[in-house]
Amino acid sequence: MFGLIVGSFLNAAIHRLPREGLTMSHPRRSLCPKCGASLTWKENLPLLSWLIQLGKCRSCKTPISWRYPAVEVLTASLFLLTAWITGPFPSAVLFVRWLVLAGLIVATFVDFEFFEIPDEISIGGMFLAPLISIAVPALHDESSIARMLTDEATLAAGGVDRVAALAACLAGMVVGGGVLIAIGKLGSAMYGRDAMGFGDVKLLAAAGGFIGPGGALVALFIGSIAASIAGVGNLLRYLYLLRQRVAERGTGKSWVRSLATARIAGRYLPFGPYLGIGIGVVLLAWKNVVDRLLGAI
Ligand SMILES: [Zn+2]
Repeated sequence: MFGLIVGSFLNAAIHRLPREGLTMSHPRRSLCPKCGASLTWKENLPLLSWLIQLGKCRSCKTPISWRYPAVEVLTASLFLLTAWITGPFPSAVLFVRWLVLAGLIVATFVDFEFFEIPDEISIGGMFLAPLISIAVPALHDESSIARMLTDEATLAAGGVDRVAALAACLAGMVVGGGVLIAIGKLGSAMYGRDAMGFGDVKLLAAAGGFIGPGGALVALFIGSIAASIAGVGNLLRYLYLLRQRVAERGTGKSWVRSLATARIAGRYLPFGPYLGIGIGVVLLAWKNVVDRLLGAI
């Protein structure tokens, strides 16, 4: 239930953050972007209102995007899964994980639509990560940097200390941001065009503050695989559309030329959502994923 309510709030963030003139506090009430009607509390219930109104505005009958119920259901499902994985309820670690997931969901859906990641999420995360690491050092319990810097007695009591957690957090931010800057520089040198958006750099830097340096590298690895699969899928989709048109119009365009066109059209794919998948997987399955791939860095 809490996830559904947060999801409804994330929908407002996804709509408002990238748009000029809209902020999280202004306008106060949600309204229909088509007819401007303010929503009553009955029209503002997560998931239920969309279902009851059959996905349409009650005043003007304009269809409401499936993204609204989808984000709410996704948030609720991920919150439930996270609570199940994190164990004893409630815990500070659980709330931090929920917070990071909420940021990733907003970044993902804004990036899909606008090809940018809101600074409120990425820079906000970079500010919050050190503060939260000091407040909740248990976040970095698995990090070997944090364990190395913690004295035996504290480790024996089952955790890492605050300064050690802060060190792991800062190392994670430097590695997360640094590796993407390096890849971006290499990419521009090889292809002669911007290969990496700065939004992605800031997002992985912020995430590194929560999942540590090893976590950031593994998140990037998983994100790259996910993006490659999506990229090939995107290319095939364009190729299919192009070949359909060739068949309809009988232009006799060759497969090779269609493939070249599809490659250009399919090139524009945001990286943020796939990076977000990698970060989310590491956040929830650190022990299984990072330990197995890297040993505990
Ligand atoms: Zn309306």
